[in-house]
Amino acid sequence: MNIPIIMLHHINNLPGPGLENWSISEEKFILLLNTIEKHGFTTTTFKLLQAHNYQRRAKAIILSFDDCPGALFEFAIPELLKRNMKAVFSIPTAQIGGFNQWDVAEQGFASVTLMNAEQLQYLSSLGMEIASHGQQHLRANKISEQQFVEEITASKKTLEKLLNQKIQTLAYPYGEVPKNYKKLVSQAGYTFGLSIYQWRSNQFALRRIGIHASDTESSLSFKLSRSYQFMRTFFDPILWIKKAIRV
Ligand SMILES: [Zn+2]
Repeated sequence: MNIPIIMLHHINNLPGPGLENWSISEEKFILLLNTIEKHGFTTTTFKLLQAHNYQRRAKAIILSFDDCPGALFEFAIPELLKRNMKAVFSIPTAQIGGFNQWDVAEQGFASVTLMNAEQLQYLSSLGMEIASHGQQHLRANKISEQQFVEEITASKKTLEKLLNQKIQTLAYPYGEVPKNYKKLVSQAGYTFGLSIYQWRSNQFALRRIGIHASDTESSLSFKLSRSYQFMRTFFDPILWIKKAIRV
């Protein structure tokens, strides 16, 4: 699956302390959507791709939002709806209607309200895909395999009950992919796993493209290109090795 998958968190002109690296401004978000349209992409979701047996009519792209800040309803979601665009939203289910407790407790970041049950149901009714982001946004490499399985199983169940439909996609918190992920994630009933940097991108650990405040129209265009995807197939393993040496 070599569809570009964009990773976003907060769309906010004035992000709180600590969240700057995980936020882009409203203007940058508009630039991203304009660039996507300019290059002739159509937004889709994992659910839609699977429903259509991976047959695509057009050049496809997936927009994914991690953590589900409630503030996305103020600007980003209305903008997506205006353009008839789809997206995938992943939520840590223990914090539905809560806040980014993991950012606050672990790193002292600003607290933001996350989407509540009604907002998730509303997004789902619009054809947006809701994905699991675990229950408590834990680091897969810091918890036992058993706890990881509990996190992804319980969060799936919570969302399926809330939305009355099958949940197929898991976004790994922090993009941390545990050992044996293919077995664990598929046995839990997922079809897709979303990582960030990935040695080898595959359906249970898909590479994603981060968008930053420093991105320009030309860097965004490049990030949507095949050359960029090709570059990542070399770049991501180097990052992995660097990370492994640091650990
Ligand atoms: Zn997250």
